[in-house]
Amino acid sequence: MNLVFLGLPGTGKGTQAKILAEKLAVPHIATGDIFRSAIANKTELGQKLKQYLEQGALVPDQVTCGIMEARLQEEDAKQGFILDGFPRTIVQGEALDESLSKLGLKLDGVVYFAAGEDVLIARLSGRRVCESCGATYHLVFNPPAQKDLCQLCGGKLIQRHDDREATVKNRLIVNRDNNEDLRKYYESRGLLITVDAENPLQQVTSEIFNKLGVS
Ligand code: AMP
Repeated sequence: MNLVFLGLPGTGKGTQAKILAEKLAVPHIATGDIFRSAIANKTELGQKLKQYLEQGALVPDQVTCGIMEARLQEEDAKQGFILDGFPRTIVQGEALDESLSKLGLKLDGVVYFAAGEDVLIARLSGRRVCESCGATYHLVFNPPAQKDLCQLCGGKLIQRHDDREATVKNRLIVNRDNNEDLRKYYESRGLLITVDAENPLQQVTSEIFNKLGVS
């Protein structure tokens, strides 16, 4: 299955994408993860991206689309994929269509994560990530057994710079209109599968699996 997970930051797309990708044995391709890894590895690209991520601003479409076009050409994406955080603008949506058509592929569905912004602000500011393996936790909804320690690898849990409240608000403002434009874009093509992302994690997983016919 070739899928896009669409929704504002904090809707749980990443968490759900990891679960479904494992179930379907397809790659989970998240632009945010690709960008953060370039920054952590201090690559030339990473240096350019740092300022955008720190401010919660969008990385320019041309840069993002170029990276994703190359990523989709990799061997593992031939078996299917889940895109998380891409596309984030209509320009990116159109670029994705073009990249897929060059590869003879098409999208099978776009899972839309619907949630109110108040819920998202609360979720993002309580989110903690493992600095070693990237696993995510939440201070209230999914706390680690031992404070500040990852249950999977023992790594230290940190707050992403862009999960601080001021940046969170900026990320929502920056993404709000684009998110709605993309929702309509995919709805008009009959690809949209909407899930209630305010529900608890496992309930959202069940809704996604049911609606996609995954057992
Ligand atoms: P995320 O992990 O999806 O919340 O993304 C973290 C940050 O990476 C965003 O706040 C943007 O600065 C950048 N980013 C991720 N995906 C995109 C995209 N498709 N287009 C532009 N910027 C992006």
